[in-house]
Amino acid sequence: MIVMNWRKPKVLSNSDRVAVWKSKELHGRFYKALSGPDVDQIASVSWLQFGDLFGETEGFVCAIMDEVIKTRNYRKHIMKDGTLDICRACHRPGESLRHIVSGCSHLANGKMRTPG
Ligand SMILES: [Zn+2]
Repeated sequence: MIVMNWRKPKVLSNSDRVAVWKSKELHGRFYKALSGPDVDQIASVSWLQFGDLFGETEGFVCAIMDEVIKTRNYRKHIMKDGTLDICRACHRPGESLRHIVSGCSHLANGKMRTPG
């Protein structure tokens, strides 16, 4: 006799999915940014419908949008691996993705290198 022990999958409505997304500490940041008053939500995510990127590339862009890139800030606060959260480029505290993209004085001067 075969015993089926499957639970019925929980299917959330779109509004429930949005509520879960909004409630997430890290992933909810992108939702909040996307919901800003000056943001065109449709234009911001329309690239996802074209399907012309490699899956890995699309996943990497989504990881960047969700700020789940392994910066030193991410390693310290999310991975909790004891990393000292000092920017490798400017040597100031707080090597977050936002710092790298728009706040790092060293990188803003046009100097880029692969983080090691
Ligand atoms: Zn920096």
